[in-house]
Amino acid sequence: MFTSLAGRSAVVTGGSKGIGRGIAEVLADAGVHVVITGRHQADIDATVDSLAGKPGTVSGVTSDVTDPADCRRVVAAAVERHGGLDIVCANAGIFPSSRLEELTPEKIDEVIGVNFKGTVYIVQAALDALTASGHGRVVITSSITGPITGFPGWSHYGASKAAQLGFLRTAAMELAPKKITVNAVLPGNIVTEGLVDMGQQYMDQMAAAVPAGRLGSVSDIGNAALFFATDEASYITGQTLVVDGGQILPESQEALADM
Ligand code: NAP
Repeated sequence: MFTSLAGRSAVVTGGSKGIGRGIAEVLADAGVHVVITGRHQADIDATVDSLAGKPGTVSGVTSDVTDPADCRRVVAAAVERHGGLDIVCANAGIFPSSRLEELTPEKIDEVIGVNFKGTVYIVQAALDALTASGHGRVVITSSITGPITGFPGWSHYGASKAAQLGFLRTAAMELAPKKITVNAVLPGNIVTEGLVDMGQQYMDQMAAAVPAGRLGSVSDIGNAALFFATDEASYITGQTLVVDGGQILPESQEALADM
């Protein structure tokens, strides 16, 4: 039995949609008060409305993770609304596809800016508050793409997701004396609004490549993040948890077909 997290305070960047929304919902179900972020007010409002009535409250701050001042504003809001900050889920991310021939410096900067720098900025902004909590938790949403696998069109995206893990390992060391853990969840293919827009046929093809026989849900990722946030995970830091239904396991298409 895990110690209750009821009353703890969390920030989930990119919590207005997709995986971040799923993390926010799982945390709120556990009684955690959550501040979600995103750049678009309408998406934040819709998510805040849909998650009303949970044991933990969910509120929003419209903000951009590429702006360190915005990140400080998010943290200040969480501290003001909930009396402190215990959990930071650095989740906001973008994944525009571009093969090498079309990959411009601007496209590289954009993906690295949101996915990597945005992760660093929100953690930096939260350092004092997480230290004060006495049991600070940082949970980064990385990906299997980059750290483990490749996907044509996503060389810059994969690099940004691997960069998060390079950051994590040293941040975990620097922050261990402050009793802050830093871990990452590496999702496989998760059903989000964006994936649903790709159509059922696309989703069926993707699911066929997963030994578990289904795509992941946002709550699959939320539950992994929740575990890292528990008191019982206090001795786990600098680690990664792949949540992919076994997607990275088959060594060939034949291996998958032989299941
Ligand atoms: P999504 O549905 O597109 O949601 C992305 C979230 O990030 C939105 O809330 C978005 O809100 C926010 N965001 C984007 N740029 C931002 C910025 N500059 N500042 C603040 N918020 C920003 O994407 P998702 O699929 O849930 O992905 C979430 C994370 O999971 C990403 O880090 C992604 O790399 C990772 N991931 C996803 C999958 C998957 O299968 N879906 C697999 C592996 C890893 P706004 O657009 O309003 O800013």
